[in-house]
Amino acid sequence: RAKEKGRACYEIFDPTMHVQALARLELESNLRHAIEQNQLFMCYQPIISFKTHQLKSFEALIRWQHPQRGIISPAEFIPVAEETQLIVPMSLWLMKDVAGQIKAWQQDPAFPREITESLRVSINISVVHLQQKQFIEQVDQVLQETGVSGKHFIFEITESILIQNVEDIIQIFRCLRDRAIDITIDDFGTGYSSLSYLCDLPITSLKIDKSFVGRMIQSSQNRRVVETILSLTQQLELFSVAEGIETIEQFNLLKTLGCHYAQGYLFGRPVRSPIASQWLTHAPLPLLDSL
Ligand code: C2E
Ligand code: MG
Ligand code: MG
Ligand code: MG
Repeated sequence: RAKEKGRACYEIFDPTMHVQALARLELESNLRHAIEQNQLFMCYQPIISFKTHQLKSFEALIRWQHPQRGIISPAEFIPVAEETQLIVPMSLWLMKDVAGQIKAWQQDPAFPREITESLRVSINISVVHLQQKQFIEQVDQVLQETGVSGKHFIFEITESILIQNVEDIIQIFRCLRDRAIDITIDDFGTGYSSLSYLCDLPITSLKIDKSFVGRMIQSSQNRRVVETILSLTQQLELFSVAEGIETIEQFNLLKTLGCHYAQGYLFGRPVRSPIASQWLTHAPLPLLDSL
């Protein structure tokens, strides 16, 4: 018994693991102060219509400006935030920040009302946050405090964690839809998606994961996965969004296949709001004219 334990301890004290654990602890304690110290900020990436080439929405993506390390990717700190429940205050902060931005765009006479009136912004909601008892209350608090309607929001949920408590999730989604918030399943096709509950979830769209989009030209198998997801969205009468579009070939193929909305570096990277604002004009950007 002791021997077993000794062996386990030996593994735990592997020096590289020790370094990793320390780095993670440091990240966690830094993250605790990141909100108060204004180190978090949102970037906005355009999502455009395949049909009109006009802006449809933005996806809001969080960034962390770390005083020593520079900009840290959400892929690195969101999992830490989820494990430590820091995701709750962080999500509340970002919902308010995004709502404030939507309001600022609406109130700025530089932007046509018909664009800002119908503009939606996607935010990524962690299932850890979604399942908190106070989640809907917090959403209501944000909508009330800022006076921004739910019809300006899309909540992106990554499917991987949806498998548990389907009934609870359906209830929460219904509450969101009651507030006119749209819901999309993010990274569709990569998680543990179950077709059996997809029909029961009151969602509005599916977002095809960028890994399929990135390989769909070279690999006929990936293209068939994309085709299958698109026919699924048609059958379920949902909208489809393709993320990670980097080439005109990918854009053209997805357009031919009937995908509704496009997102990717081909049109624009995630940028801070003053730069993203350039999308809020009538004219499709020159790049898109040539597509
Ligand atoms: P996601 O929600 O699937 O976001 C799309 C990711 O793809 C973003 O990475 C975006 O910058 C990147 N991307 C967009 N177009 C292209 C492209 O053409 N090519 C390539 N290679 N990548 C592209 P980012 O911003 O690093 O975010 C990574 C993930 O972190 C997000 O994946 C999302 O799951 C999570 N995340 C980001 N912001 C938030 C947030 O505010 N809250 C939560 N809970 N999670 C977030
Ligand atoms: Mg997303
Ligand atoms: Mg995601
Ligand atoms: Mg994604």
